[in-house]
Amino acid sequence: MAKRAKITVAGAGALGLTTALALADAGHSVTVFDPASPLDNASGVAAGMLAPAFESVLDPAATPQLDLLLAARDLWPALETRIGVVVDRAGAVAVGEADFLARADGGLRSLGLHPTDLARKALEGLAPGLAPTWGRGVLIREDWRIEAGAALTALRAACEAAGVIFRQEPARGFEGGERLVIATGAARDLAVVAPELSALSPIKGHILRSQAYAYEGVVVRGEGAYVTAAPGAMTLGATMQPGRDDRDVDPEDVAPLLAAGARLFPQVADGPYAASAGVRAATTDGLPMVGRGRHHGVLLAVGARRNGWLLAPLVARIIAACVTEGEAGPYAQRLDPARFGMTSEAK
Ligand SMILES: Cc1cc2nc3c(=O)[nH]c(=O)nc-3n(C[C@H](O)[C@H](O)[C@H](O)COP(=O)(O)OP(=O)(O)OC[C@H]3O[C@@H](n4cnc5c(N)ncnc54)[C@H](O)[C@@H]3O)c2cc1C
Repeated sequence: MAKRAKITVAGAGALGLTTALALADAGHSVTVFDPASPLDNASGVAAGMLAPAFESVLDPAATPQLDLLLAARDLWPALETRIGVVVDRAGAVAVGEADFLARADGGLRSLGLHPTDLARKALEGLAPGLAPTWGRGVLIREDWRIEAGAALTALRAACEAAGVIFRQEPARGFEGGERLVIATGAARDLAVVAPELSALSPIKGHILRSQAYAYEGVVVRGEGAYVTAAPGAMTLGATMQPGRDDRDVDPEDVAPLLAAGARLFPQVADGPYAASAGVRAATTDGLPMVGRGRHHGVLLAVGARRNGWLLAPLVARIIAACVTEGEAGPYAQRLDPARFGMTSEAK
């Protein structure tokens, strides 16, 4: 193993914690800084879908990245075992009007995936409570899911057990570490040591937890909303509001999301729900910046857009390889922060 390094990780979201754990497991001395409470970030509000297939089809920014997204997902079983979180592998089903289903089915097939056409009876079994309007669905088993809050809690516990130290305060620089891993989500306050952060832009997202229905079925991808199981509830997500970096809940954005969810599951229309908002960080090519920054000793793990949970173990692997001078694997170059034109000095 390379020399034991003293590493500061800024940010205790999915990317920061997964990376901190990988670094601690590699024998390094890791301190994580974050001023926020443990679940109070984008990772804590997320739906937890590990969805290479439907993200590639439904989000044009992800379409060219299917191979990378699948590779990230395939690192999850090891993380599942390491932190003791349950990965739900039941799959996801698209439900909607004929043209939406044709787009989902055609998009999956054009990417070389193998969706299954479901008739109403099978659909009911996988998505109990689905509105009778929907007689057909398109199922893909490639998409998995975790419970995001539980995963964040499990990651933190695994980090602590591995010797990671937590400080509930912001990192303003290296904080005494030899390396600084910047995993601060959409925040740009460390731009002084990482000018690359100026390439990030925020995308606000609202998400609802409906207490009207304890849904236990597969992920449902509809038009204007997706639905996932949640402990004793149902999650309805999510809005995409580019340029917004506040976390206020805006009733005018919640209303169409709730309406789209109620077209799938009418039970949620009048029931109680809790709304929250998170801010995703995005780059112009839809991929995160992962790897060495321009300034010596700085490593970036930011910009995961809609797929931070999916990408977390891949991000962690690449950062750990940067620290140990090990093999970063075939996707490191695609995620290299230097692709935005800022060359590395004295890496
Ligand atoms: C509504 C919604 C639904 C989503 N659903 C999914 C999904 O189903 N699947 C999926 O894969 N992704 C999903 N995402 C995206 C995913 O949540 C993000 O990509 C991911 O959480 C990013 O993780 P992160 O660690 O980069 O950032 P964050 O989770 O935002 O964590 C960054 C942390 O850095 C801290 N920080 C900021 N500045 C400093 C500083 N100076 N020093 C120390 N700490 C600092 C913050 O307090 C914060 O805790 C969703 C996002 C939203 C908003």
